[in-house]
Amino acid sequence: MRILVVEDDKVVGSLVEKILEKKGYDVDLVATGSLGEELASKGTYDCIVLDLGLPDIDGLEICRNLRDKQVDTPLLILSAYDAINIKVSGLDFGADDYLTKPFDNTELIARVDALIRRYHANKSKEELVCGELKMNMIQRKFFVNNNEIDLTNNEFDLMAYFLKNQDRVIGINELSDNVWELGFDTRTNYVNVYLSYIRKKIKPYTNKKYFKTIRKQGFKLTND
Ligand code: CA
Repeated sequence: MRILVVEDDKVVGSLVEKILEKKGYDVDLVATGSLGEELASKGTYDCIVLDLGLPDIDGLEICRNLRDKQVDTPLLILSAYDAINIKVSGLDFGADDYLTKPFDNTELIARVDALIRRYHANKSKEELVCGELKMNMIQRKFFVNNNEIDLTNNEFDLMAYFLKNQDRVIGINELSDNVWELGFDTRTNYVNVYLSYIRKKIKPYTNKKYFKTIRKQGFKLTND
């Protein structure tokens, strides 16, 4: 787990670094807002601990910029300001939590742990992945190798069911019972038709097959 700490005060910065490293986190410590924002924009951290009073950019500005760029990493503001309106605007600007300096070491760890836990729990609920195939359930978007693929509702629901049940052979009956909830006549070959649409849409963006047809049993989605 990687944490970015943006703090210009050397003493506080290295204290936070030490506390988090002791807990087993990998920490990158930077002292300016511009470098902090640049690193955070990559979206590769599990949490960001952000000071508000930085020499170049205001911490609140960084919060807002990151959220504008769709970076969803949890943000913990660490600041000497404890005025209620600063806390509120921090949260308004996209921060997830707020801790006032001076802080208690165990409090800092508890807050960071909680943010990371919640972040990963939500992520695993909203994102389904199989190799180069990625689906965001909240936004109802589907990507192959980071190219967004336009799926109809039926195709999307079918794809989602396969992603949730990957590496397992799924029969036509199971699909007709679970995917569109209407149930349909299995003889009409709906599944085959929709699968062929999906395969056609995926094909230009990958060399892999992903869908395997298992004779007399059904289909399997796999990254093998
Ligand atoms: Ca500061």
